Amino acid sequence: MAKIKLEYIWLDGYTPLAGLRSKTKIIDGNVSSLKLEDLPVWGFDGSSTQQAEGKSSDCQLKPVALFPDVTRKNAFLVMSEVLMPKGEPHPSNSRATIPDDPDTWFGFEQEYFFFQNGRPLGFPVDGYPAPQGPYYTGVGYRSIGNVARKIVEEHIDLCVAAGINIEGINAEVAKGQWEFQIFGKGSKNAADQVWVARYILSRLCEGYGIDIEWGCKPVRGEWGRSLDWNGSGMHCNFSTKHLRDVGGKAYFEKLMAAFDKHRDEHIAVYGPDNHLRLTGLHETQSIDKFSYGLADRGASIRIPHSFINNGYRGYLEDRRPNSAADPYLVAGRIIRTIQTVPTA
Ligand code: ADP
Ligand code: MN
Ligand code: MN
Ligand code: MN
Repeated sequence: MAKIKLEYIWLDGYTPLAGLRSKTKIIDGNVSSLKLEDLPVWGFDGSSTQQAEGKSSDCQLKPVALFPDVTRKNAFLVMSEVLMPKGEPHPSNSRATIPDDPDTWFGFEQEYFFFQNGRPLGFPVDGYPAPQGPYYTGVGYRSIGNVARKIVEEHIDLCVAAGINIEGINAEVAKGQWEFQIFGKGSKNAADQVWVARYILSRLCEGYGIDIEWGCKPVRGEWGRSLDWNGSGMHCNFSTKHLRDVGGKAYFEKLMAAFDKHRDEHIAVYGPDNHLRLTGLHETQSIDKFSYGLADRGASIRIPHSFINNGYRGYLEDRRPNSAADPYLVAGRIIRTIQTVPTA
């Protein structure tokens, strides 16, 4: 038996951009055999997180996924859903209401900015850094600075140790902007991992005096001489069993027609302020249009070459979700739209 530290993590009730919250519960248990089913339901004061009124403030935390936390001794991160006192899902609990399907796979490309003193890391106090160009996948102090790489390397290691399917990282187009990729099977599983990877990154950066800016268009006006700085996306790559195994041009075209038809419902959950980012510039399609294209980074949905080469089989990339979107809602909406299209 050991004293085990459980960090319960949940999404708060702030809109349109939910924040991450967490607190520690210590239990007696066996570290090597601890399972999700062993974890107690816990609670918190919802009146401090925009999730309840002061006079009836108790909310419940239901553990839904468990990840080892190597930053602490005998510790785990516990992704949790927020429930009302009687056990029904809280209105802020997006996870509880989305469709799931373990055969639908998701790869999220989470972009973000490091921020310090109210501006992107590496932006001078006055004026601007050199224009975009050398930063994407760049190397060298002038492009990358001297802290970011240390953080992203630690982030990879912490995610791997937590059992998160992190698939890669890269420096992005704007100065101070980075990306990590997370793959998961099923909407809940994939999105749980994205949220926990976000949590790990935010917490890691505390010690560096750096914040993560999840907003989709943090550099405009004030810091941008022009609007010539990329925003942050969270491209969502997806494939169903049917798309991987059967596919075909006719099915693909029906699927894209359904995505076109449900464009507004998709945009509604693809993250706040997306009109600032989906402008038709900076490798995006504008927010009021739907398009798809082969290797087209200016389309709403990009078709990878591999998809066509394999007879319209494989995965597709929805480029519209932004960096601040809730991956539960993004994945859930994609499944919903796919479900409207008959496979036969
Ligand atoms: P790019 O930057 O060129 O758009 P990335 O390499 O950053 O591409 O991301 C590709 C993403 O596609 C990864 O997150 C990966 O997990 C995902 N992916 C690859 N194959 C599949 C698949 N069959 N189903 C769903 N996602 C996939
Ligand atoms: Mn990418
Ligand atoms: Mn990217
Ligand atoms: Mn992409």
